[in-house]
Order: sequence, then C-alpha cells, then structure tokens
Amino acid sequence: MQCENNINRQVIPKMLFDISNAAIEMLPNDLFQQKQVTVSVLRIDKIHPVVSGNKLFKLHFFLQEALQTSHKTILTFGGAYSNHLAATAYACSVLGLKSIGIIRGEEPAELSHTLLQCLNEGMQLKFISRQQYAENDDAEFIQSLKNEFGECTLVPEGGYHPLGAKGAALIMDLVGKNYSHICTAMGTATTLAGLLRRAEPFQKIIGIPVLKGMTDMEERLLHLTGNKTLPGNFDLLDDYHFGGYAKKTDELIQFMNQCWQQYQLPLDFVYTAKMLYAVTDQVKKDRFPKGSNILCLHTGGLQGNRSLPANTLNF
Ligand SMILES: *Cc1c(COP(=O)(O)O)cnc(C)c1O
Repeated sequence: MQCENNINRQVIPKMLFDISNAAIEMLPNDLFQQKQVTVSVLRIDKIHPVVSGNKLFKLHFFLQEALQTSHKTILTFGGAYSNHLAATAYACSVLGLKSIGIIRGEEPAELSHTLLQCLNEGMQLKFISRQQYAENDDAEFIQSLKNEFGECTLVPEGGYHPLGAKGAALIMDLVGKNYSHICTAMGTATTLAGLLRRAEPFQKIIGIPVLKGMTDMEERLLHLTGNKTLPGNFDLLDDYHFGGYAKKTDELIQFMNQCWQQYQLPLDFVYTAKMLYAVTDQVKKDRFPKGSNILCLHTGGLQGNRSLPANTLNF
C-alpha cells in the first residue's frame, strides 16, 4: 500500500494520547484511476487497538475538563457493543479518571465482550431499562444519577454535544487542505459537525448515515455547531445503511473481505464498511468530478467485529 504519510504532526502534542500511529494511506484501485480520482483513508483506527478512531477525539475536551475537577469522574451512556463506552473506559483508566457507564437494557446473564472490557478497565456499570434509557437527557433522571454517583462530568451518548464536535474538529487539523472531499460514517453526526467546523469552503464534507431513516440530521448539525444556518458544503449519502444500524448483508461482508485482500484495510461492519462501500459506489456512478482527492475517515470501531461469528472475515 502506498503511504503518503502527510499528517499534520503539529496536532499531536495537543492530544492527551499518543496519536503518532495515525496515517494517511492511498487506496490502489483501477476504478479510481480510470475515473481520475484518488481515494485515501485517514487511519485514526491505528492510534490504539482499544481507544481508536473518532471516539478519542470526541472525548478530548470532556476528558480535559474532568482532569481539572476534584471529582475526576466521567459518566456516560451506551449499548452493550458501544465503541464509545469502550473508548471512554480505556481513556479514563489511562488518565486516572473514574468512569461510570449507564447501559441500555437489563443486565444479561452473559456480558458482551465490550462490556467485559469496560469492566476490566475499571468502569462501573449500571444497567437500566430501554424505556428509562430513552429518557437519558431528562433533567430529573440526570439528577437521580448525580444523587447516586456524586458529581461527575457527564458525556452524552456518543459524545453528542458541541464539546464533542469541538474535539472531532481536531481530526481536520490532522488532515491539511489537500482534499476536495472528506467522507465519514455518521451515527450521532458529532464527527461530521466537527469536520464542518474546520472545513474550508472549497472542501465538501460527506456523511454516510448508518441508521435507517435519520430525518433530523440538519437539526443535529445546528445543535452541534451552534450555528443558526447550515453551511452549504456538506452532503449526505442516505442510501447505504444496509437495512439499518448494525445490520449487514452478504454483499457488505464480501466487500469487507475484498478490502482486506486488496488494500490490507480492516473495516468494521457497523460504520466504516458502509462508508467505504458508499464512496466506492459513488465513484462508480461518477458523483466525484475528475481530479477529486477524496479522503475517507477510518473512524475505528474494529472491536465491534468481535460480535460476528468466527470465520466471517478474512482478517
Ligand atoms: C461512533 C462511530 C461513528 C459515528 O460517529 P458520530 O460522531 O456519532 O456520527 C463512526 N464510525 C465509528 C467506527 C464509530 O465508532
């Protein structure tokens, strides 16, 4: 694989973690050459096997805030396979912070690999019903958590908060101005909002929603950027959710195995596989003008593949 390695290294000392493993890799593919575009991948998944990808960036300012308090505690929310919980637990354990995870759903007989890992990192887990979880931004519920756990820095699920977007904007600082299009998978839209905060007007930011029928993206982006109006330089590719969140098809799995074979690029089936599938398909369909330099974010999430049956993937 071709490595340009043109990461802006000035960002590195600002981070709480060593991110020097991050890299930019150009994908060799006849299709891209034929269409006269380049497709590169920002490998922030390489930062660390556990705390990798966009989650570390979204957590950045929350972690910094918690470090300055006397309670030194982060409380956050997630499901049983949440990359966000895995990253939070790890980051807190390394930085000497206490972490509390509020988990969606009743405690199962057997914990998921993600939650076992969180426990190993010292995260305290509290299971709540799906119904109560749905009200996790309700003021009364938040107060009851504070009564139970004491003062803490509260991080909304997936870092969905302007401070999370501010952290995600640090990803743009790594990238430089060489790219005409920057593409990312979207869950809460926090990462996309962060990219938009820093993008130049000539750069197009493209989001690939991994949930089916997300209709509130614009509202989300206004909340996350704190702007009254949306910038014109973003686009959503709405048709690549493969049935919905964490759903997959044989075609998607095949695509992942092919990307490993062709590029030695490991993808996760919930986010990054759908993103790169979408970008490849749109190159095929001539969405990108000749001369485009497309950058795809590898936002991490590889731990999620551990929920797939053995031998599904060739990596
Ligand atoms: C959480 C996650 C996303 C989605 O990021 P948002 O900021 O919630 O939109 C994308 N990719 C991976 C691998 C993730 O874990």
